[in-house]
Amino acid sequence: MKPFDPIESLARVRHEFGEHGGVNRSIEASTTFTVMHADTMPEIFHGHLGPERGCYLYGRHFNPTVYALGREIAALEGAETGYCASSGMAAISAALLQCCSTGDHIVSSRTVYGGTFALLRELLPAKAGISTTFVDAWDFDAVARAITPRTRVLYAETMSNPTLRIADIPRLARIARARDVNLIIDNTFCPLLVSPIRLGADIVCHSLTKFINGASDIIAGAVVGPAEFITGLMDLHTGPLMLLGPTMDPRVAFDISLRLPHLGLRMAEHGRRAQVFAERLHERGLNVTYPGLPDHPDHELMARLSNPGYGFGGILTIDLGTTERAFALMERLQNEMKFGYMAVSLGYFDTLMSCSASSTSSEMSEEDLARAGISPGLVRLSIGYTGTLEQRWAQMDRALRELGTARGPYHRAGVAAAPGSQP
Ligand SMILES: *Cc1c(COP(=O)(O)O)cnc(C)c1O
Repeated sequence: MKPFDPIESLARVRHEFGEHGGVNRSIEASTTFTVMHADTMPEIFHGHLGPERGCYLYGRHFNPTVYALGREIAALEGAETGYCASSGMAAISAALLQCCSTGDHIVSSRTVYGGTFALLRELLPAKAGISTTFVDAWDFDAVARAITPRTRVLYAETMSNPTLRIADIPRLARIARARDVNLIIDNTFCPLLVSPIRLGADIVCHSLTKFINGASDIIAGAVVGPAEFITGLMDLHTGPLMLLGPTMDPRVAFDISLRLPHLGLRMAEHGRRAQVFAERLHERGLNVTYPGLPDHPDHELMARLSNPGYGFGGILTIDLGTTERAFALMERLQNEMKFGYMAVSLGYFDTLMSCSASSTSSEMSEEDLARAGISPGLVRLSIGYTGTLEQRWAQMDRALRELGTARGPYHRAGVAAAPGSQP
């Protein structure tokens, strides 16, 4: 069988003319929709007619432009269908609520996005009576042991944030399937690189805010999976995405859709530059973590799971040991070198730098941070593609030389790996 190609898959759903024959589809900026016959309306209300038949009702339910973007993300992921939400967190929380009811249980990787961690650990148990057991997702026995008869979801990120471990999706899918549990994968770090649905995941969530949108100007999310699941999310009487109401604006859906044709070019260039940076930082003796380096614990796994042509992603981390050294390097890189920005988030065309322990993972206690392998001096870099590669490297090189980081405690002792993981 021919391997899945996300770009080919996307091209098949993209072809749609605008209202007047425009090369871009039209934006359906309506909050309410007419029907030609009065008896169509009850059919839509009862879920017998829907967007797949071109029947729309109200903008918080399905909107044609938002639905078109959902289908494109689904095509990229090789999923049956999908829909969008106003943020990645909205997509994730709706997917979890669709799978779980009060008393149900989730098994989640310990190293997940800070917002997701807080949702699972604080909000869902407090507000919905849904509990989570956090496990090391690379300890398959621990994953299997954590599953109870009330477990509905096994949750992980393709590439963990900010530890950059790769989830063995086929292994996790086998464990989940054997126990009739949904495997939900957050693929925000790896669009195009990895296709979790093709590797056995049931549902994929995205923060479209990051690589997919690519310009750090829009907060948005998507969830893709079986048509029945997506229809359930949007059910007029019981759907969490419909009833909690984190609706995507059709203008936003249109904007994001226009960024998809060059997503492949962007991901390849993010990956190419991150690879060069990781290799050069490693050569300098820095404690750098990047899945494209042969000493990364999941280098082989990622090579095996990923689609060819996009490399190993746009994110790398440097462990500078202490918060002070991490802050000093980031300040120098931003304020003197104009290398990039000290800002959270990722997938921007410019380089973004953040100190994970004191920013995006600050929801975690010191103990949780240590268990997850997130050191206080860990700087996450989302490598951009503005300027030339050599210009950017010269800036990094100078900042490091001026800080003297190629000496002493900045030297790596070993590759940072999550506790309990193999080398
Ligand atoms: C940013 C992010 C989210 C949350 O997305 P928002 O669009 O900010 O709600 C979820 N998961 C991962 C991996 C992220 O990086």
